[in-house]
Amino acid sequence: MSSNPVYIPYKRTGFSHHKCYLRETKGCSDKLSSEHYLSENILNKIERINTTIDVTGLSWLPKERLKSIGKSSLVSNILCTQHNSDLSALDSIDGELIDGIACIDAEFNENDPVAINVSIDGVPFERWIIKTVIGLVESNQIRQKSGQPFVYKKKCLKST
Ligand SMILES: [Zn+2]
Repeated sequence: MSSNPVYIPYKRTGFSHHKCYLRETKGCSDKLSSEHYLSENILNKIERINTTIDVTGLSWLPKERLKSIGKSSLVSNILCTQHNSDLSALDSIDGELIDGIACIDAEFNENDPVAINVSIDGVPFERWIIKTVIGLVESNQIRQKSGQPFVYKKKCLKST
């Protein structure tokens, strides 16, 4: 079975930033960026609709506690600026997903709803999900029930 890694290397700087989770690609810049481990695109949409961003289940929150938080707090220095820029195109797919869900939800709330088909390209969507999960793991936002960090296979990061 083939899989789609989150990153497809195309540029090698020869540099590996020790805090960037894509350092093994040797395509790093020398600066870290503030990466939104939950897509900034989605956070903007939630904030626009809800005015607050309410989170639960993150490792630093008490169990089953809901907390309102500013989106600027949902960042971590887990990618260099080059890799953050390289992966930014994946964040447009979440906008398509949210818009599709909003469209279906609006229709569902009509008096006489009709079926709506929403089509999203599966490959970039899969890569975006992997990027989000890796971001949550690398930023230590999620942990196993035992308290141990999650681990993932390096082949999820890049094609070989
Ligand atoms: Zn990097």
